[in-house]
Formats: sequence, structure tokens, C-alpha cells
Amino acid sequence: MRAVVFEEYGRLAEVREVADPRPAEHGVVVRVEATGLCRSDWHGWQGHDPDITLPHVPGHELAGVVEAAGPRVTRWRPGDRVTVPFVCACGTCAACAAGDQQVCERQTQPGFTHWGSFAQYVALDHADVNLVAVPEEMSYATAASLGCRFATAFRAVVQQGRTAAGEWVAVHGCGGVGLSAVMIAAACGARVVAVDVSPGALELAREFGAAACVDATRVPDTAAEIRDLTGGGAHLSLDALGSPGTCAASVNCLRRRGRHVQVGLLPSADGTTPVPMARAIALELELLGSHGMAAHTYPAMLELVRSGAVRPDRLVTATIPLDAAPRALAGMGSAPAAGVTVVEPWR
Ligand SMILES: [Zn+2]
Ligand SMILES: [Zn+2]
Repeated sequence: MRAVVFEEYGRLAEVREVADPRPAEHGVVVRVEATGLCRSDWHGWQGHDPDITLPHVPGHELAGVVEAAGPRVTRWRPGDRVTVPFVCACGTCAACAAGDQQVCERQTQPGFTHWGSFAQYVALDHADVNLVAVPEEMSYATAASLGCRFATAFRAVVQQGRTAAGEWVAVHGCGGVGLSAVMIAAACGARVVAVDVSPGALELAREFGAAACVDATRVPDTAAEIRDLTGGGAHLSLDALGSPGTCAASVNCLRRRGRHVQVGLLPSADGTTPVPMARAIALELELLGSHGMAAHTYPAMLELVRSGAVRPDRLVTATIPLDAAPRALAGMGSAPAAGVTVVEPWR
């Protein structure tokens, strides 16, 4: 099969022929119809992810068709339209038994712990636990966007963030996950304040339902601005970018008893990021993490999409062939585009 392969961190990947994957006994091989390009792929390519070993094939936001299934797979057969959360769970550890597959103790992640979906085929483990049926009316490009950014945003806003109608929700960073969060929070009846440095991203945030936008290049203290705009601070705030600055701003923009959800990854040399804990104590803030979403909780999200209240298809702004993926991956570091690029390996 053809795949995007890199042999060295930070050096341009190349498209070449590699061996076809084979399904594990409990796994499947999926023919990739669409796979989203994500900043996490760029972090992996830069060497920020300790799970990756070289040579490597990135890609974790995929949708496609089951090509082959292992003998112990009972729920899926060749020809099924499927997607997966980027965290694939084992189905048997304590976290999985509690229904928290998104933090499985023995999780695998295509494109990180093994070769991913920037390829014609990808192997996925524990298919009965992890696969999600893609509704007939949903395109593969849209379905591909659900597994990482949209599901992550849904869990952050709805499951972890517990957004309620009428609340103020701040979203720091309006890339793919941030714009998804804006859409979902607005669909929940929240009033959304979107923060970004790009006028184009803020324009999209407004289109997707943001009630107010803050241009971080013009406002020196975005947290103070949000506290003013919301009459005392947001009830819920998401750092959807992942940087020490946006993390601190997210905590600092909250009102008393507010909830911060860290969504964007925070890689750093020593593995830690400063957080304004004094404010967390004084205002009794809740500081939460959000890590993907379990496959069994997808129905509520799929129903929201089906109803038309949220439009993940509108986040997809470009589709490219596999040959264009290496350069697009390299470009994610410097100038992440507003909107989502989807790779279609069959093109
Ligand atoms: Zn992703
Ligand atoms: Zn598990």
C-alpha cells in the first residue's frame, strides 16, 4: 500500500510503498477513505510524543470501510462504514470496565502507538470495543473529523465541562477543536466568547455561533477582557490551543466556581506547565482534563450532528491527496489554517 512515512523527526515525510497491515485476532484493517490532519500529528512528527518509534506513519482521525476482520471480531464485517475514537481501548482494564475507555490503561492510538491512517489501509485493535458505525448520510470527510477534534470538543464541553444553557463559555484558540467547541457550546444554548490571534478564525467562530470574539493580538489581557464581557467571568473555559499563555488565560477568565478544561496538548521540555493555582483555590475553580471520547458515548454526539444543530462538515475547508500530505503536515507548525484539511488516500 501507499503511505506517508517519516524516518527522522522534523524531516519532510515521503509517500512510498510499504507492506499492507494485517488484522489482529480482535482487530480489523480499514480501507481509509478520509483522514484529518491535526496538530497532534505535527507534534508527533516533531518528536514530542514518546509513543512513536521510527520509521512511522502518522494519522489518527479516520473514517473508512472495513476491509478485513480478525476471527474474534463479532460486531463488524468487511464493507461496514466505520470511524474510531483516536484512543482505542482494550475493553478489559479497570478504566474500560467503568466505561471510561478514553483513559484506557492499555490504549492504542493509530498514528502514535502504531502506524496510522495517512495510508491506504490502517490496522485497528479491539474492533468490537472501538469501532463506531458511520451513518449512511454522513460523508467520510465529516466522519473523519469526529474521532479527534469534534469528539474531544464534545467531551470537553458536554461531558467534562457540563455546559448548561445560558452559561458563558470561553474558548481559547479557534483551530479545529476550538471551532468544534464553539459550535457545540452554542448548540447547548451557551453564550460563547471565542479567542484567537487570527481574524479568519474569529470570523468562522462568529459564523459558528460565538456571541463575542476577542482578538488576542489587540487585547493585551484576554482574561480581563472576558471577565468584562461576561459580567464577572466565564462559567466554563477551554484552552483549546495548548500553550502556557492560553492555559493561564483560561483559568484567569473564570468566575467563582468556574470550570477550566484543558484540551490542547501542553508539551514542554520538563513536562510541566505553570497553572494559576492560587486563583483555583480562592475561587474554588475546577480544573479538568479532556482526552478524546469513548466509542460507546458517540450516539449523543451523532444525534446532535444528525439534527443539524452542529455542522462538523463546515469545518472541512480542504481535501488533499496523499502526495500533498507531507507538506501539509510540515505546515501545521507554522501557520495552522482556520478549518480542517482532510487527506483522501484513494485520490
Ligand atoms: Zn487529532
Ligand atoms: Zn482498557
